Amino acid sequence: MKKLHLVSLGCTKNLVDSEVMLGKLNDYKITDDESEADVIIVNTCGFIESAKQESLQTVLNLHDRRKEDSLLVMSGCLSERYKEELQKELSEVDIFTGVGDYDKIDELIEKKQSKFTPKSYLIEDENRVITGSNYHTYIKLSEGCNQQCSFCAIPSFKGKLNSRDLNLVAHEVKNLVKKGFYDFSFISQDSSSYLRDKGIKDGLVKLIEEIEKIDGVKSARILYLYPSTLSDEVIEKIISSKTFHNYFEMPIQHISDNMLKVMRRGSGSETIKHQLNLMKTAPNAFFRTSVIVGHPKETKQDFEEIKNFINEFGFDRVSIFEYSDEEGTHSFNIEDKVDKETIKQRVKELEVIVEKNLQTSLKKDLGKVIDIVIDGESSEGEFFLGAKKLIWAEDIDGEILINEKEIEDELEVGKIYKAKVTDVVGSNLLATVVG
Ligand code: SF4
Repeated sequence: MKKLHLVSLGCTKNLVDSEVMLGKLNDYKITDDESEADVIIVNTCGFIESAKQESLQTVLNLHDRRKEDSLLVMSGCLSERYKEELQKELSEVDIFTGVGDYDKIDELIEKKQSKFTPKSYLIEDENRVITGSNYHTYIKLSEGCNQQCSFCAIPSFKGKLNSRDLNLVAHEVKNLVKKGFYDFSFISQDSSSYLRDKGIKDGLVKLIEEIEKIDGVKSARILYLYPSTLSDEVIEKIISSKTFHNYFEMPIQHISDNMLKVMRRGSGSETIKHQLNLMKTAPNAFFRTSVIVGHPKETKQDFEEIKNFINEFGFDRVSIFEYSDEEGTHSFNIEDKVDKETIKQRVKELEVIVEKNLQTSLKKDLGKVIDIVIDGESSEGEFFLGAKKLIWAEDIDGEILINEKEIEDELEVGKIYKAKVTDVVGSNLLATVVG
């Protein structure tokens, strides 16, 4: 049997695309060892400079270690965006493919191997192979984006918003439930715009209603809410849902009105604060956001504003992005840049606050009994089992280390338990399973 080695870089949307490719290549055996693989795929990310460098370095490292006659494939955002330049300069790569050909990956590979025979393909993601979990997965709502954020090149290569048909989304979830999955994270570039391209304003309300009807979905959350397309109705629908958690992932990027305008975010601080405060009325709400530091024209006062806001609001998790110039974006052409030293300094200042917020968030659970799911061996090794809080999204929100249990039964991976949180260890929780 032929062997496949796949490296998925970047965001969870890329991970879903990688899983679609695995589904298309399910006659390959997956291997962790690139030196024995017949096909190596690097699904790249081109979001910011550091991601580009990581993608290129990964491709080159794999090339050094691959066996003769293997195929090296570069797919994803970076490959889409710089296809022509990369084709000229990266002779190590055998196949370049962008963001629109994931479901044709088997065809592309077969063509290159000169064994191409036409096939009929199943629609959508029916054969997708879910990686990393036996109970949780990400579900894509749409591809592309209609926003014009100044710093982002994604719409220039992923195109306009193209929402998946709600019936197909529900069909995919039903199929996954049959395979034992019960926890779903819905993703896209801008989730609150879901179905707007089909003339429906609050597509997320319809999504929630549809998913709630599916027996076997025990847990769900929506990621990438975008302030200017998010309505109060959607927030209220999430709060009233028994299936969807009060999990609010809304990348605000900034809070100073001056910067929100420069960043072309389409809504001001008043709207964002109103939305966040409405979300705060939900019991046990969990907040995740991201912030870009040092965008062109960011003054000291703008930075102080976002710093104070992050300090005061109490987000549970914050991702900080250091601004980097990206070709093809509006920001690239803004002359009033913030110098690199200042950006680094601001990032450091914000990191201190974000870490403090994280600790406060983790300590809120101390002594409480919470719903958790066992994921398997922990990142700290075999002495602990790793788990996640049911409300958390997989991989991104942290880990719970299980060191004891007060029940007789063996703990099962993928099963929901009650656990008492006994300590905070770094950025992890320590807990005992109690039921
Ligand atoms: S919402 Fe903004 S940041 Fe997100 S993909 Fe669209 S343009 Fe880029």
